[in-house]
Amino acid sequence: MRKPRIALLATGGTIAGTAGSATDTSGYTAGQLGADALIAAVPQLASLARLSAEQLFNIDSKDMTPQHWLMLSRRVQALADDPAVDGVVITHGTDTLEETAYFLQITLAASKPVVMTAAMRPATALSADGPLNLYQAVALACRPAAGRAGVLAVLGDRILPADTIAKRHPSAVDAFTHAGALTTLASDAALQALAPRRNSRIALPPEVQMLPAVELLTVAAGSSPALARALASAGLSGGVAGVVLALPGNASLPEAWLPALEELPPTVPLVLASRCGGGIGRQRANAPANWLDAGALDPLKARVRLIAGLGAGLRGARLRRWFERG
Ligand code: ASP
Repeated sequence: MRKPRIALLATGGTIAGTAGSATDTSGYTAGQLGADALIAAVPQLASLARLSAEQLFNIDSKDMTPQHWLMLSRRVQALADDPAVDGVVITHGTDTLEETAYFLQITLAASKPVVMTAAMRPATALSADGPLNLYQAVALACRPAAGRAGVLAVLGDRILPADTIAKRHPSAVDAFTHAGALTTLASDAALQALAPRRNSRIALPPEVQMLPAVELLTVAAGSSPALARALASAGLSGGVAGVVLALPGNASLPEAWLPALEELPPTVPLVLASRCGGGIGRQRANAPANWLDAGALDPLKARVRLIAGLGAGLRGARLRRWFERG
């Protein structure tokens, strides 16, 4: 039987990280090994697929920016459109994997598997988790049924969908939430049951070269609205295109913040998200026209959605609809 042709895109992270000793799992440098070295560490990959490898960047994912997302999304789209490619695997750092995954989810029009993977331990560590994660990610990318489920990540024996993936521990190997997870041994039937990719994509026209600056503020009990005032003036001078607030509980706004938020120029959208990390935040009726509810999106994903929406040129009612479909 013909082996599936899988394109590996390497972007860095701990999976490509190295430390001075095999017992050091924290004092390492991410993004050191190249794509070929990642593949060479897992000879068993050759029995799964015909792999091609490409090094797109080699960075710690804390340094990812929306420009990297844009470049990655366009490269994945080109590979997914290539009849000589059956699936795409992306290696990435764990720190901002959930943001990149969600950006890919909402910008790609791909029916082939797109699977991200990463590692919590550097490649040089005893019991490094990267090699098995990479093997399982490639195995998943070989299954056409995975293409119907949108962008997926494989970490620690679990398949995690882009809509719900979230890193919730800074150092444990099992660092990601299990919400919506399937085991990597999932059958094709289970994969099909896994939330089919939602009809919620946006096309970023080829002339878009830069994505807009969107800031995220977390509101804590008694925190000062001074930062919101600074953003209001940055918004007036064009330096900030949108703002997301991570709000307590039911996306609730402290009274002290209202005057500062009303100073935001009406052209700068303000997305109100719950910082709870689950559930659906409050939907506001009769709010100012530039206020948008994040609904089920956590603040990080709401920011990604706002960046993509603004980048695609959505404003006013069209931007509101983009959030309602989220
Ligand atoms: N700092 C690393 C990164 O995100 C952490 C990791 O990959 O686990 O790139």
